[in-house]
Amino acid sequence: MKKYIVGNWKMNHNLSNIEDFFSSLKIEGAQCETWVAPQAIHVPHLIERAKGTNLKIGVQNICEHEKGAFTGEISVTSALDIGATFCLVGHSERRSLYNEDDDLLNKKVHTALNSGMKVIFCVGEQLIERQNGMTNKVLKNQILEGLEGIKPNSFQDGQLLIAYEPVWAIGTGEVATPEQAQQAHAHIRAVLAVELRLETKEIPLLYGGSVKPANAEGLLSQKDIDGALVGGASLKGDDFTKLTNII
Ligand code: PEP
Repeated sequence: MKKYIVGNWKMNHNLSNIEDFFSSLKIEGAQCETWVAPQAIHVPHLIERAKGTNLKIGVQNICEHEKGAFTGEISVTSALDIGATFCLVGHSERRSLYNEDDDLLNKKVHTALNSGMKVIFCVGEQLIERQNGMTNKVLKNQILEGLEGIKPNSFQDGQLLIAYEPVWAIGTGEVATPEQAQQAHAHIRAVLAVELRLETKEIPLLYGGSVKPANAEGLLSQKDIDGALVGGASLKGDDFTKLTNII
């Protein structure tokens, strides 16, 4: 299975910060996939800027419809057309700030996979849910609802990835322990295999939530963790580079 370091830049970075990122990025010899999702408005610039490097560029969100009268939305086919290769679906900020529910997320997953775009489908429990012992149940529900109707063999190897991102660890500096993350990943693999009959060897599982070079080693060495989805620490080229050396 390939390994992945994926940056989610959220609504950060201007053109000058992007130059700073590239000036300290050294990923020529990286043994893993290196992906970044900048703000949508910067995607064409990033694709141009990343030419000649191993960096692949994606979008943080897509519309569930392919085209039409959907003002302000991002078409998956247009994103593919300009060279974006992947999209995030179900990030906790989309779920909580923009009320994206399981049904909508499921439509987005289908639209993206049907168009041939790689999908990182994000799941994760709130702190209160973990405290109440509901983590496994929440993850199972999010996966069963979000991936409903996805058939085994309906997508290619590595086209669907899952990111386990405990909500309490995103942008908080509070990272899951390697044991907590491994337990959640093993559970996700079991749900994919047993409930959905999906070939889990073909579905990379990424951990996300306050990953940085100082805490990545323990997480990325876990058996069921195939990479990281990284917010804050992916904004700096040298931290991004360090993560690619750790995995
Ligand atoms: C994220 O937004 O997907 C994320 C994991 O952010 P951070 O690394 O900053 O916690």
